[in-house]
Amino acid sequence: MLARTEAWAAINSGTRNLPGLKAMAAALADAFSALPGALALLPADPVDTVNADGSVQSLDHGDHLQLVVRPEAPVQLLFTGHMDTVFGIDHPFQHGRWQADGTLNAPGAADMKGGLSLLLAALESIERSPPAARLGYTVVINSDEETGSLSSRRLIAEAARGKVAALTYEPALPDGTLAGARGGTGNFSLVVRGRSAHAGRNPEDGRNAIVAAAALALHLSEAGRPGLAVNPARIDGGGPNNVVPDLAILRVNFRPGDASAIARAHAALDDAIAAVTAAHGVTIQLHGSFNRPPKPIDAGADRLFALVRQAGADLGIPVAWKTTGGVCDGNNIAACGVPVVDTMGVRGGAIHSGDEFLIPESLAERAALSALTILRLVERGHP
Ligand SMILES: [Zn+2]
Repeated sequence: MLARTEAWAAINSGTRNLPGLKAMAAALADAFSALPGALALLPADPVDTVNADGSVQSLDHGDHLQLVVRPEAPVQLLFTGHMDTVFGIDHPFQHGRWQADGTLNAPGAADMKGGLSLLLAALESIERSPPAARLGYTVVINSDEETGSLSSRRLIAEAARGKVAALTYEPALPDGTLAGARGGTGNFSLVVRGRSAHAGRNPEDGRNAIVAAAALALHLSEAGRPGLAVNPARIDGGGPNNVVPDLAILRVNFRPGDASAIARAHAALDDAIAAVTAAHGVTIQLHGSFNRPPKPIDAGADRLFALVRQAGADLGIPVAWKTTGGVCDGNNIAACGVPVVDTMGVRGGAIHSGDEFLIPESLAERAALSALTILRLVERGHP
């Protein structure tokens, strides 16, 4: 597991590095073909992005890996992970090294190439045991988790259909604590178009898009409250000092705590757009979505956590969990009504930074935790 993790971490697979993702997908397809079933690399769904000049451009993504094993078996599970990392090809963090404390500092080692490696080991051990005949599963390893799974969320939602439970291989905290409830997130770009005019000769003929975007930012930030964080993050646009600017793009992130907060955010967007359009004489186009719905711990998730905790207790691995503000594909799986524990990967930390580390002993430990959890799910037929 460790050698495989090191080899995979040596392949740069930043979300925007398409050749790197291609190499990573090939390495994963090769390794996961040790399992039975139908393995495919599937093309990414189209994704649009709004440029700083207000134009809309389609973004290319790497293929996603899907493995379908025994779809006719009575107990169906979903396993998900991602092959991409936050470290692009031009990032200084490209190589792994062993640290004095025995941890492995390598790009994507914890998030989540180590998790993918231990998932494979757990599934290989399951395949060697008789209960495997009663287990069917889909593995989805996407190429765009770190930028919000916009090109893979449909694939994940389809794979979740009919599954009794899901496990996702994001890293646990260094002490083994798992992520419980998660908030959601949504990213929006508001393209504001006004009218240019000379700043001195006829400013009254202009419609200032920067001022309108700033007004939008104020309106939206006032909609923030406990349970719905609103972060106007950036305004692109504007131009020379002597021109009333006719273009601005406001970027805003929402963090809803539950479904009602998503409804409040949509209402706040509608209200802000209507008010600013009327007051500033501009047009406003809205792009974006709540790509990560909130993941509350419902009754099904509660039972799955209890099952994982019992499996841990039987292996001498204490399992606790806590609420986090981070998001991942577990949010999208939970939104499909499938109970999910989404931090079944390695123990590690400092992810998304050059200090990212993996605790190597956790590979075997967490592979055992996954294998026993899966066997118990097969035995019971549900969480
Ligand atoms: Zn991750």
